[in-house]
Amino acid sequence: MNIILLGPPGAGKGTQAAKLVDQRNMIQLSTGDMLREAKSSGTEMGNKVAAIMDAGQLVTDEIVIGLIEEKLAGDHAGGFIFDGFPRTLPQADALAALLAKHGAALDAVVELAVNDEVLVGRIVGRAEEARAAGKTARADDNEESLKVRLMEYYKKTSPLIGYYYAKGDLSSIDGLGEIDAVASAISGVLDK
Ligand code: AMP
Repeated sequence: MNIILLGPPGAGKGTQAAKLVDQRNMIQLSTGDMLREAKSSGTEMGNKVAAIMDAGQLVTDEIVIGLIEEKLAGDHAGGFIFDGFPRTLPQADALAALLAKHGAALDAVVELAVNDEVLVGRIVGRAEEARAAGKTARADDNEESLKVRLMEYYKKTSPLIGYYYAKGDLSSIDGLGEIDAVASAISGVLDK
């Protein structure tokens, strides 16, 4: 099974993807994780995207499509969870083409629906938790970058909800529940 987890920053995509990896032997493809890794290891691409990411803006379609293309060439027996990708319509088209090239298809797009107030609280909470644990918070987990990230989401990513709805691939679930309740709602969609 290949699925997309769709939702704004802080909706719980990463948390739910990690659960699916444990439970279903799927492979999580998070472009955010890949980009943070490139940034912290100081590759040429990482240096190029660092300031853009810290500000909360989207990096170019070309870069993230390239990252995904590399990963799709590998083994994918349990299927892929796309987490934080696609984030634009051109990325969605590119994903469809890449999957087709590998003889694969998209099985479901799960939208984690949450409201903005809860989101801001979660992200500010995530930064505070990191600080309390003596870890460094994500450079983009601050109020200013968060506003930009939300705006990027509504302008560029939220049109994907309509796009996948029209394709008949979309299932929306309530992302505001407890982690396990959201996980079982996702399972319900995948086992349908
Ligand atoms: P995330 O961890 O998914 O919240 O991603 C963190 C940051 O990485 C985003 O704010 C963007 O700057 C960048 N990023 C991650 N995925 C994408 C994507 N699919 N398209 C463009 N930029 C992305």
